[in-house]
Amino acid sequence: MTTNPKTANPLNIELKPNENGWSPLSWNSKPIEQLPPYPDSVELENAYRQLRSLPPLITSWEIEALKTKLANVSKGEGFLLWGGDCAETFDACTAPKIVNMLKVMLQMSFILVHEMSTPILRVGRIAGQYAKPRSKDSETIDGVEMLNYRGDLINSFEPNKEARTPDPQRLIKGYEKSALTLNFLRALADEGFADLQHPEQWELDFMQNNEYYKDYEAMVNSIHKAINFMETITPNTFSTLHKVDIYTSHEALNLYYDSAQTRQVPRKAGWFNLSGHMVWLGNRTKQLDGAHVEYLRGIENPIGIKVGPPFDVDETIEIMDKLNPNHEAGKIVLISRMGVDEVKEHLPRYIKAVKKAGHPVVWSCDPMHGNTFATENKVKTRRFDDILDEIKETFAVHRAEGSYLGGVHLELTGDNVTECVGGANGLNEAGLGTNYETYCDPRLNYEQSLEMAFLVAREWNK
Ligand code: PEP
Ligand code: MN
Repeated sequence: MTTNPKTANPLNIELKPNENGWSPLSWNSKPIEQLPPYPDSVELENAYRQLRSLPPLITSWEIEALKTKLANVSKGEGFLLWGGDCAETFDACTAPKIVNMLKVMLQMSFILVHEMSTPILRVGRIAGQYAKPRSKDSETIDGVEMLNYRGDLINSFEPNKEARTPDPQRLIKGYEKSALTLNFLRALADEGFADLQHPEQWELDFMQNNEYYKDYEAMVNSIHKAINFMETITPNTFSTLHKVDIYTSHEALNLYYDSAQTRQVPRKAGWFNLSGHMVWLGNRTKQLDGAHVEYLRGIENPIGIKVGPPFDVDETIEIMDKLNPNHEAGKIVLISRMGVDEVKEHLPRYIKAVKKAGHPVVWSCDPMHGNTFATENKVKTRRFDDILDEIKETFAVHRAEGSYLGGVHLELTGDNVTECVGGANGLNEAGLGTNYETYCDPRLNYEQSLEMAFLVAREWNK
């Protein structure tokens, strides 16, 4: 079965290239990884044209505001809390899931603000995180070979050949689900989020097993007092301070989705991907002459770049030269995802090379993707302690190199899932089956996420 011919379905749409030879579709003729072919190019083109005509999900000035805030983080002023599902699913576009995600992200950021006294920038892997790179193109289920699941934006998780075939209508569906998610997120952020004023709803009992419980309890009480104080002197501070309380992001993987929503804006130079405030380049789609780098070099949005095996430092610098030739601050977030045992060996080389090349970056640590393993029962999981240790190692290396670790990038959920082992509640491998929901990578649950925020703040303060 040829599942990935490494070229995308060509679209019959002429777009005039700009002075750099770039257009929203210039990637379309480049070699591409991780995007299986659609069986019907005409259907794909129809869906693309439809998506292109729909209104944008976000605005260019939100993107510019985020970039300015990231520029501050790159100077050591602030910290980027970036988190969310490995993969969102269409079915999980529900009120409770969205509320829980916003709640855990806000609570984590309150913990960080309180402990670190620095501005916290919140970015969700949300409202568009529907496409996944996979290590294998296909799998065999009950003797039938079929494409691997690649996220709801591309095909269905359902294990049959037809459902696994890439479907262009999913581009439209992904846009709609993103719009619904974002609409509710904005409403919650605009009208205030009552849960936050009530620490008794923070569900902290699990922390009683933790050596830091007393500190933790004191911190929550103090956050509660601060919120009450602010609310008393300036009512609704928390609801009106920021219009967009959380920025959105996803991996720019299915370039049909991203490029159809890449637009010019009146009275502004350049092109903006208006499907998410920020997008990132995955570790598997970083080919210097490939489609993903080509697409990303033309957009104004801040861009994350995953930095992991095979640890090619020169390539990372060349990618940055392409994506940020003018060395604009706030443009690039380098997300190291090395694995706890690799950080000491590889990260110093990267930090030195980035400095030497003169690229202003925000350094972030993704302690998730280098620490995944399968249990004896073949359940994909991660250890809380490995995740924490990668963060600790990463802080230590940055400190030793005179560099600033400006953020963490976590796969997490506000729900009480059982996907990662460890944490104060002592979830073990036997307990993973209780509420294992993810179709892709294991996430920190609500409790593990709050605990992680608290422990990240401790490391930051060292
Ligand atoms: C991800 O962030 O979900 C992911 C697939 O990461 P990476 O590209 O670093 O493997
Ligand atoms: Mn993942």
